[in-house]
Amino acid sequence: MSYPKYGRIDGAIVMIGFGSIGQGTLPLIERHFDFDPDKLVIIEPNDANAEKIAEKGYQRLAASLSPENYREVLGSVLTPGAGFVVNLSVDTSSLDLMKFCREQGVLYIDTVVEPWVGFYFDTDDNAARTNYALRQAVRDEKAANPGGTTAVSCCGANPGMVSWFVKAALLKLAEDLGAVAEPSSRGEWAALMQTLGVKGVHIAERDTQVRTEPRETGHFVNTWSVEGFIAEGFQPAELGWGSWEPWFPPNAHRQDRGCKSAIWLEQPGANTRVRTWCPTRGPQFGFLVTHNEAVSIADYYTVGEGDHPEFRPTAHYAYHPCDDAVLSLHEMFGSGQVQEVHHILDVEEIEPGGIDELGVLLYGHAKNALWYGSRLSNEETKDLAPDQNATGLQVTSAVLAGMVWALENPQAGIVETDEMDHARCLEVQLPYLGPVEGHYTDWTPLTDRQSLFPEELVEDEPWAFANVLERTGA
Ligand code: NAD
Repeated sequence: MSYPKYGRIDGAIVMIGFGSIGQGTLPLIERHFDFDPDKLVIIEPNDANAEKIAEKGYQRLAASLSPENYREVLGSVLTPGAGFVVNLSVDTSSLDLMKFCREQGVLYIDTVVEPWVGFYFDTDDNAARTNYALRQAVRDEKAANPGGTTAVSCCGANPGMVSWFVKAALLKLAEDLGAVAEPSSRGEWAALMQTLGVKGVHIAERDTQVRTEPRETGHFVNTWSVEGFIAEGFQPAELGWGSWEPWFPPNAHRQDRGCKSAIWLEQPGANTRVRTWCPTRGPQFGFLVTHNEAVSIADYYTVGEGDHPEFRPTAHYAYHPCDDAVLSLHEMFGSGQVQEVHHILDVEEIEPGGIDELGVLLYGHAKNALWYGSRLSNEETKDLAPDQNATGLQVTSAVLAGMVWALENPQAGIVETDEMDHARCLEVQLPYLGPVEGHYTDWTPLTDRQSLFPEELVEDEPWAFANVLERTGA
């Protein structure tokens, strides 16, 4: 098999974290870039992963990055003016790391705005624990220091790839509605969404990967970082808030500074259910887990200024993780205890047939709703790339695409995936995504609603968040 080489990375490649995503990203870096293997260093504090690094023949730095040591540790391995820092860790500050890399003239990429340890649980100030707060700090840094060495923020599957899908879906919708669309700036993309009548976007995901062995009580099982999922699951539910929404959740809060594109609810995201739709299983509940893309998409597609813009879409995650993860959440919230055993499903322990169906559901327009995304199976993943399951490959191939884009655009400053060339990024990523398809549905959140118990529905606005959010029994 021959694979395209997308360029040469001179200087050190420093990977931070060698967990499920780091392990899956490494073979893609090896496959698609020319680099000096002696200059690839993996910073990984966990000894359990040391053997895997040694097997690959790379240098490991057994350090746990902290606010006190990161400049010294990173500074000891990176090459000023060259190279790449690929941050795939938990508990490290994306903002501090990207600032340091930009000072040093080193390209940088991560998959979330990660904070230093303590951010998620050491305060009861829920506003301070939002992804809005994390993202706004990165946007403030971008505004204060525009341009310069490229640092790609939040370039995984979601956040990340889904922002490229939003653009691909908008172009498909425009074509299917007979509209002319060639947007080339943020303002034109936002105007296109508004003109097409799109009211909002669900990041609609259904993970059907099943483990051969049943989950044991007291085990948290997931298809990617358990630690990462628990941390974000305990953050407040959060969503980009549409300018057209007719109802405001009673326990919701607005933001008082920055772009103000999102609101947050006084309840944990992974215990908040919303109605959505994916092609395989159709209508389903997903969890309203906070994610950077909910805030960034609502911000990017805003038309007009100020507190009351002319148009802003609603945008949020609606995540149905694998069934074992749903049960793990149920057990965790029910018992009030975080399980001691954390298990990320290995590609070899998943039953044939499981897929990660991850896409964007653009709703409210003349054709009702369009789901556009990747339906990658675990079996296909085995043929495409080693050391990861389907969920992992959707993330790692986005990291690859982001790295290619950064190499091709090395002086773009701090960017989110909404701001990148979606066509180029998807061109790099598509070979790893399995079937990427668009599916229309006539389902709305009002379809087949039970009538045994009273509900306060907004009948004349089917896609209102009031109808999407599960409120009975919440
Ligand atoms: P993981 O839990 O498997 O691995 C995290 C790694 O970080 C571990 O190897 C751990 O030892 C290392 N680490 C912990 N503290 C560290 C420190 N202080 N310094 C250096 N390394 C440290 O997680 P994962 O599944 O590989 O996910 C990695 C990151 O990617 C997480 O932040 C996760 O939220 C994110 N992620 C993003 C997406 C997306 O689509 N955007 C999807 C999956 C994961």
